[in-house]
Amino acid sequence: MIIALKHDARREEITGFTAFLEKQGVRVHLSEGASQTVLGLVGDTSGIDEEGLMAHHLVEKVIRVQEPYKRANRMFHPEDTRIDINAAGGKTQHIGAGYLGVIAGPCSVETREQIITVAKAVKEAGAGFLRGGAFKPRTSPYSFQGLGCGGLDLLLEAKKETGLPVVTELMAIHQLEVFDGVDLIQVGARNMQNFTLLRELGRCKKPVLLKRGLASTITELLMAAEYIMAGGNDRIILCERGIRTFDSYTRNTLDLSAVPALKRHTHLPVIVDPSHATGIAWMVPAMAKAAVAAGADGVIIEVHNNPETALCDGEQSITPDAFAALMGTLKKYAEFEGKYLP
Ligand code: PEP
Ligand code: MN
Repeated sequence: MIIALKHDARREEITGFTAFLEKQGVRVHLSEGASQTVLGLVGDTSGIDEEGLMAHHLVEKVIRVQEPYKRANRMFHPEDTRIDINAAGGKTQHIGAGYLGVIAGPCSVETREQIITVAKAVKEAGAGFLRGGAFKPRTSPYSFQGLGCGGLDLLLEAKKETGLPVVTELMAIHQLEVFDGVDLIQVGARNMQNFTLLRELGRCKKPVLLKRGLASTITELLMAAEYIMAGGNDRIILCERGIRTFDSYTRNTLDLSAVPALKRHTHLPVIVDPSHATGIAWMVPAMAKAAVAAGADGVIIEVHNNPETALCDGEQSITPDAFAALMGTLKKYAEFEGKYLP
């Protein structure tokens, strides 16, 4: 971090300010020019608050050289992280470090027949994980909110039936009490900056699928991951799921450039959700392929046995047949990228 001081900063004030900075665990190098003094901060600056420094009367400008996240930063952990997930009784599934993870299933768990049918179909097609929302964050309070605990029970039945580890969204801390059987906890886009929730997940032993907020920057996503990691949980998978832009043709705009950007700055696996990114079923296969080509470590895809009657996100859900066809293609893309899709 570089701090340019105001022209009229006096020597004794600078000495005091330097001592104040050093107390925060960094070394300070002073460069005195003819008209300006610059302080170079060396060491771990992640705990130093840039905005706070800007409020100091001696400070003209602050330039951050190092990213504000440490545990998520590839600089301190150059190798890719692989997340291993084992559903009791099933085989261990991997995401990251050369393993392409495919998560598939309906937006929401609706009925026993629906979730078991879809679970069997996606397993047969080669998916490694089953998704299905039990607690749904809906824009309208009058829309289907998910089956809640009943939905979780059905999801766990589908897990038992297929051996697939399950992924479902956690909306509030108290729901953790009923998440024992869940293998991968999703933090949805709307909760990406729910810092209380993130802190609690830092204390949790389960891996977390962290989705990018609707209007969140790449750094904000990484800082959200840092919250969880700072609490001691480093099993995080990041997910690009589309962001808000001016165009309304698609539900969101898939920011595929987030994939190489994230992979450059973090060692955590990065997956893509082409379903929520586009909101249009026929676009999902093209964007899933593009995600793998862009270097993603996996995809999460909404699959429904009867999209027309789905209680949530039917228009973006693909059928089991379309999913099976897509899996065949993704295998080839994965191979081309040097990734393993079991
Ligand atoms: C979902 O996965 O069904 C979901 C609600 O996702 P997001 O948080 O990305 O909107
Ligand atoms: Mn959905």
